[in-house]
Amino acid sequence: MTDADIAIVGAGAAGLMAAICAGRANPNARIVALDGARKLGAKILVAGGGRCNVTHDAVDESMYAGSSRNAIKKVLRRFDVPQTLAFFRELGVELKREDTGKLFPVSDDAHTVLDALLHAARAANVSLQHPCRVEAIQRDADAFCMTGDWGTLTAHHIILATGGRSLPKSGSDGGGYALARALGHTITRRVFPALVPLTLPRDHPLCALSGIATIVTLDVKNSTGKPLTSFTGSMLCTHFGISGPVALDISRYYLAARMDDPTCEVYANWLPDETSDALEARVLRAGRTPLTRIFSGALPDRLLRLLCASVNVEPGIPADQLPRDTRKAFVRALTAYPLPITGDRGFTYAEVTAGGVPLTELHLETMESRACPGLYLCGELCDVDGRIGGYNFQWAWASGYVAGRAAARFAAQ
Ligand SMILES: Cc1cc2nc3c(=O)[nH]c(=O)nc-3n(C[C@H](O)[C@H](O)[C@H](O)COP(=O)(O)OP(=O)(O)OC[C@H]3O[C@@H](n4cnc5c(N)ncnc54)[C@H](O)[C@@H]3O)c2cc1C
Repeated sequence: MTDADIAIVGAGAAGLMAAICAGRANPNARIVALDGARKLGAKILVAGGGRCNVTHDAVDESMYAGSSRNAIKKVLRRFDVPQTLAFFRELGVELKREDTGKLFPVSDDAHTVLDALLHAARAANVSLQHPCRVEAIQRDADAFCMTGDWGTLTAHHIILATGGRSLPKSGSDGGGYALARALGHTITRRVFPALVPLTLPRDHPLCALSGIATIVTLDVKNSTGKPLTSFTGSMLCTHFGISGPVALDISRYYLAARMDDPTCEVYANWLPDETSDALEARVLRAGRTPLTRIFSGALPDRLLRLLCASVNVEPGIPADQLPRDTRKAFVRALTAYPLPITGDRGFTYAEVTAGGVPLTELHLETMESRACPGLYLCGELCDVDGRIGGYNFQWAWASGYVAGRAAARFAAQ
């Protein structure tokens, strides 16, 4: 095919959703989805540890960053979580809710999700072409001309769904930004990894606790100690630093804050349910009880020993022999332990990209470009990134739905 009514560039979560919705809304339209990847849907397959966390049962704009929350809300409400559930149910994919609120396919297998999307796209008359990486797009008077080493395709409407830069080996390597720029868009000044593990100095004692996971509160504070952001959840110590849901969630906010203020730091509160005063009172009440025993059960033993070492105190010391300053320093280590973050693991290990095309450049009722009529954008290519928990896919489904239906409507005219 060299000519189409609608071309979709990128057949990941957002592109497939846009293709399905366009095909269903306009069954007569000739729709082609081009993807540079040899195998489609790599990110859907790795998502949620291979189980694909399709969405979350409580999605709202406060779970996202990037463009304004009001703009994000306008798109999210066009295709909400009940609609997502109904959409997948109709494709034969039943979703189940876990205690965290995350929704997964009952099969616990991401293939179920990808296979259903590919089947639905073909059933909606979408021609899926890959590997067909689009290297350039030119806008003529009334059409777009896409080229690559596979040939040329002309289309009257085009949906850019090329993703961001996370997991570049999946095909989402940021090449879509150049395509968006060539068609009149800007990309935010900052594009950086989000939901990414953070690194500590190689010889930091926490790296030796690799494999230990515990519930913590992570706080980002500026140089004056002012709290900027805080998340509570499970943190995993690794040989390079910290990972797990809470570390991934804070990463985006820490990395952004550090660009403005390089002195800001992350602090761990290892016992988020207790105040410093209550902890100090517990130590004071403990009499001759060895320090580590007071908190055994509440924290992993090796972590307790590390915290004792950080304030130069023997783990077995009876509580009533702790000098006042040491007692206070120990309580500080329990509640505000500084994590000297050296950096992040980069786009290779990031689940999502912060930055992209600002939503101010789009008509949000259609996701159509303000700069280039006939062009629609959706998914991670936009300056929207969500927290861990299914929010990024929900953005892909919602923005793909809006873009696909709008392109189909205009194509019909
Ligand atoms: C390891 C990992 C786990 C994740 N787990 C979850 C999860 O459980 N829940 C959740 O909500 N989110 C999760 N995410 C995030 C989620 O996968 C993404 O936000 C989502 O896939 C973005 O969808 P997208 O379609 O916009 O982009 P992508 O999925 O990145 O798709 C873009 C597509 O465009 C193609 N492409 C790029 N450039 C071109 C070009 N020039 N020509 C042709 N094709 C091109 C790429 O090959 C790719 O197929 C995870 C991400 C990763 C990396």
